[in-house]
Amino acid sequence: MATVRASCPSCGDVELTTREVQVQVCSATDEGTYSFLCPGCRLIVNKGAEQRVVELLVSAGVRVVSWDLPAELSEPKCGPPITYDDLLTFHFELDSEGWLEHVIAGGGPLGSR
Ligand SMILES: [Zn+2]
Repeated sequence: MATVRASCPSCGDVELTTREVQVQVCSATDEGTYSFLCPGCRLIVNKGAEQRVVELLVSAGVRVVSWDLPAELSEPKCGPPITYDDLLTFHFELDSEGWLEHVIAGGGPLGSR
């Protein structure tokens, strides 16, 4: 099994086996990242990877995972953007009695009752 040398922001250079590294490639943009659990600090390190690095890691036997952008990104968006006032209204609404029932019953925009 090949050894991969990577860098942790806290611990510096660390050595990993190919089994301890994973490559992620976005299906829509082809952008790649790789991640590993740092053997030093036990935190997950995630870094961007150019195509060349992705190919190198994959040819060394690193597992590749393809991921999709969230479907919400392609949903049509309408209406004005929310404002700080909307957020404040929502905050107070959540603190009020029966807010969930009001929303479920289609009681109109929050703050309208
Ligand atoms: Zn570390």
